[in-house]
Amino acid sequence: MTATLINGKTSAAALIERIAADTALLRQKTGVQPGLAVVIVGDDPASQVYVSNKSRTAERCGFHSVQHTLAAETTEEQLLLLVAQLNADPKVHGILVQLPLPTQIAAAAVIRAIDPAKDVDGFHDINAGRIASGAAHEAFVPCTPAGAMILIREVLGDGLAGKHAVVVGRSNIVGKPMASLLLAADCTVTIAHSRTVDLPAVCRMADILVAAVGRPELIRGDWIKPGAVVIDVGINRVPAGPGDPKTRLVGDVATAEAMERAAAITPVPGGVGPMTIALLMLNTLTSACRHAGVSV
Ligand code: NDP
Repeated sequence: MTATLINGKTSAAALIERIAADTALLRQKTGVQPGLAVVIVGDDPASQVYVSNKSRTAERCGFHSVQHTLAAETTEEQLLLLVAQLNADPKVHGILVQLPLPTQIAAAAVIRAIDPAKDVDGFHDINAGRIASGAAHEAFVPCTPAGAMILIREVLGDGLAGKHAVVVGRSNIVGKPMASLLLAADCTVTIAHSRTVDLPAVCRMADILVAAVGRPELIRGDWIKPGAVVIDVGINRVPAGPGDPKTRLVGDVATAEAMERAAAITPVPGGVGPMTIALLMLNTLTSACRHAGVSV
């Protein structure tokens, strides 16, 4: 069997096109223009690439887009002040503070300071609680798991009920919300992590396998159940070849091996990554629609 590659780039482009059209309609009907504020602290090169991608995509969607770039030595108090200003700004419907933050700032305190109604990353305790209690429709769902769910549905349609889903990774931003969404879709869900005993055997049970670990190609081909749908969230930079100073991106799954057994798999890059940005735009549009009192 050779797996179908799930093209996240195409799906994300289609979604962004729809968001741009809906944004134009919202502006025409209500005068409300969705606004996204992205805050970055420090000069981490990977974060800078993510943030400029997000701002560029926001502009393509027709959003009011603002970017705040703060110095690496910014204090928690200064950042909290900016968050308070953005909470109060009627032109801003979504606030994203790019993680990781420098060590002098407690990320949890900053996330809790964001108005849950503008928390388009879906990391605030209130949004996390809504998702965990089965009220995802009232929440902002974190963008990566929300994007992964769209890709899974593109393959399986309505056929998720009763499928065994294994999520490897239990972070608050990917693993846990991913498991909640799969549970809400009536999958039987197993969450695996660094203390899981016999991870290969656990993965082999998965009709749907989601890898969100951050370990290059940890999941091997013979860990995949024949016919499984594999969603590789991992983004890992590794040397392009032995001793090569150039680098390339790989996921948490050994893709070529996995393709021999899976029915469908997301590539890295070009799978979940583009969907994450598209879902950030969708969450921002949703926030603006809620603000304007119209449905998305
Ligand atoms: P975290 O480091 O927060 O979490 C990693 C999880 O993997 C933890 O739960 C950890 O277990 C588990 N883990 C680590 N090593 C092993 C192992 N050997 N066996 C089993 N489980 C293990 O990472 P994130 O959730 O933030 O991100 C995961 C990956 O996804 C990263 O590569 C990240 O770059 C990528 N990512 C991609 C995005 C995208 O848009 N495509 C967006 C966000 C993240 P424990 O809890 O026990 O420590």
